[in-house]
Amino acid sequence: MKTLFVCSERDPRETRVAVIPSDVGKLSAIGWSVNVESGAGAKAGFSDEDYKLAGAAIVDADFAKNADFIVAVRKPQVERIADFKRGAFYLSLLDPFNEKGLIAAFAAQGVTAASFEMIPRSTIAQKMDVLSSQSSLAGYVAVIKAANTLKRILPMMMTPAGTISPLKFFIVGVGVAGLQAIATAKRLGARVEAFDTRPVVEEQVKSLGAKFVKIDLGETGQTAQGYAKELTPEQIELQRRGMAKVCAQSDVIITTAKLFGRKAPRIITAEMVMGMKAGSVIIDMAVESGGNVEGSKPDEIVITPNGVTIIGDTCLEASVPATASQMYSSNVYNYIAHFSPNGTFEPNFEDPIMKVSAVTHDGQITDERFK
Ligand code: NAD
Repeated sequence: MKTLFVCSERDPRETRVAVIPSDVGKLSAIGWSVNVESGAGAKAGFSDEDYKLAGAAIVDADFAKNADFIVAVRKPQVERIADFKRGAFYLSLLDPFNEKGLIAAFAAQGVTAASFEMIPRSTIAQKMDVLSSQSSLAGYVAVIKAANTLKRILPMMMTPAGTISPLKFFIVGVGVAGLQAIATAKRLGARVEAFDTRPVVEEQVKSLGAKFVKIDLGETGQTAQGYAKELTPEQIELQRRGMAKVCAQSDVIITTAKLFGRKAPRIITAEMVMGMKAGSVIIDMAVESGGNVEGSKPDEIVITPNGVTIIGDTCLEASVPATASQMYSSNVYNYIAHFSPNGTFEPNFEDPIMKVSAVTHDGQITDERFK
């Protein structure tokens, strides 16, 4: 039986755990002895006792030395990699575009490191797509956070004490997070408008009952993977001008516009923020990759001189850790199960999912971009 080790997260902001107790039995059934670092699930509401009852062993951090497969939510500290067994398999979010030193350390140690960010956006890979499962929750949490920050309610109310108008939300970037933000804001009764540079999104926005803001940017399009292409500086300027009026009228703006592997576009300028009403809220979901909003800061709340609150939370999904861990854990199980066709884990490097997700193998960095 091969040994799987579920690490505790080292980043103090992290609340999620990579495998939840209800998936322990499923992993055991495909040949793993599951070993969980003591306390790993505590912040997500899963105790060591819960894991033991599910059939896992509780171990300490040193267990990493013996493990055939190590799984976590975030990248490990680089100095820990020297402890991992040669030939072991490591799976987590690795932030490979920004972590070339870490990737080199995995290769030097002879560990196969797989990065969840690199999973292709294909139908077959959907069940192991961590970016999607976590972005969807982040989109939901962004709306709840905005609702908690506002001093007003979202829906229209007609009462003997007068009519309350619904609040206006503007969602910029309608990928997985944006769609969930639209759906959540609509459910809470807000009036929602949205924009994305990929024209295919218009139908999806309308199907959720929101209004698509039309701005003519000329040729935009998307990559073969479905990601947005980078706009020219002239197109960004056109976009800002086209959005300025909607921004000024919005009570909440949620920006989710990212460019895979690159810096996020700066879409909302300080001037546009200054044009908003006091009490409005902006949530910049791209803050970690450079930010869509001028003045947003990672993991800080900024209040502008005109009374707009800009929230730059880098991990919104971490505030619903039990659900986020449940989805992450399911993605982990599906990844391992996909490569266990005969009941035991056999990484197939010809499989397109393994080919792109494994960024190191056999002592080599397998993706040119991370060398
Ligand atoms: P993302 O997080 O990379 O970006 C969020 C959104 O921002 C995207 O919709 C993008 O078009 C948009 N954007 C980029 N620049 C912008 C700008 N200047 N102004 C406004 N919007 C801008 O996207 P994502 O959520 O990871 O989704 C990326 C693509 O992958 C989408 O087409 C999505 O439908 C697709 N997808 C496919 C699968 C699958 O088939 N398995 C799973 C998830 C996502």
